[in-house]
Amino acid sequence: MAAWLCGGAIYHETGYGSDHPLAIARAGLVEDLCRALGWLDETCFVESPVASHAELTRYHEPVYVEAVRRVSDSGLASAEDRTRFGLGTRENPIFPRLYPRAATACGGSIEAARRVLDGGVAFNPGGGTHHGMPARAHGFCYFNDPVLAVLTLLDAGLDRVLYVDLDAHHCDGVQLAFRAEPRVRTISIHEAGRWPGTGAASDRGGGEARNLPVPAGFNDSELDHLMAHAVMPLATEFEPEAVVVTVGADALAGDPLSGLALSNRALWRAVRGLRDLTPRTIVLGGGGYNPWTLGRCWTGLWGMLRGHAPPVPLPPAARALLAGLDCELVDDEDRAPEWLSTLADPPADGPVRAEVAALVEMVTGG
Ligand SMILES: [Zn+2]
Repeated sequence: MAAWLCGGAIYHETGYGSDHPLAIARAGLVEDLCRALGWLDETCFVESPVASHAELTRYHEPVYVEAVRRVSDSGLASAEDRTRFGLGTRENPIFPRLYPRAATACGGSIEAARRVLDGGVAFNPGGGTHHGMPARAHGFCYFNDPVLAVLTLLDAGLDRVLYVDLDAHHCDGVQLAFRAEPRVRTISIHEAGRWPGTGAASDRGGGEARNLPVPAGFNDSELDHLMAHAVMPLATEFEPEAVVVTVGADALAGDPLSGLALSNRALWRAVRGLRDLTPRTIVLGGGGYNPWTLGRCWTGLWGMLRGHAPPVPLPPAARALLAGLDCELVDDEDRAPEWLSTLADPPADGPVRAEVAALVEMVTGG
């Protein structure tokens, strides 16, 4: 199956400002690790285009797109930019090249959608900005590239698109976009009680949305259980022609902004199952605030999509990249030794707790 990775030079710049959780190595690191392992060459690497104004306004309001460009160019946000658009806040700061960076995330996802139309899988690790609203920045997201990817598939004539979100946070922006759209089913697994607080198990959006809020400590066995008994049946029943999946690395053990405890192996298994459902798969990044767990997870994910097993031991060039990382939110004593020497985490199996098992009936029942 054809596979593409949508990257970009802009992801080698640190954005967001120094005290922001996203001011760490992320998509650029994934690209570097994949190259260090020999998993990326000109046949599969795509330089993400910058989404045009017309492409962004397919979903976002023109006045908002213009505001993002203006604050990015000037470096200044007015009181109105903060209150009306959520721009220039601690959550959604203004930083140099904000606009091209946010528009590149969208361009990569739109390009991913175009690439897979005739079959294949495309991975945009810089994408997954699932909180973006039509006219407001929200939850570190300025635009909503998952929505634009799904719209690209629908505009090309597909009738049924499945969106699955495995990030630790509820995909409120994507669910809102498709609340009245019977051609799109959204399924989200996220940590209960976490920001933004939406996505209760009873919440079905406009009808097709399904939400599985899971407790802290969520383990591999629990994800396997929910995939087998809830997500895959709901996915199959919907008969999708394409799948878009956001694989937030913040659901992994060791992430400073979530309490979930998955290994990367469980996320790879989940994505493989979804990939095998249809001829067309788009994989997006999403959250993830620990550069070691994020880099290893998304690099191994690309390896899985390309049919490469994680090399043991990890070659020196890849180890050097991991050794060169830093992150203010992850204390030295919390850094696991294997983060520097392996791609695959040890399995994080455990009991399937009753509150997790109960979600199956809640989301699959009438
Ligand atoms: Zn998240």
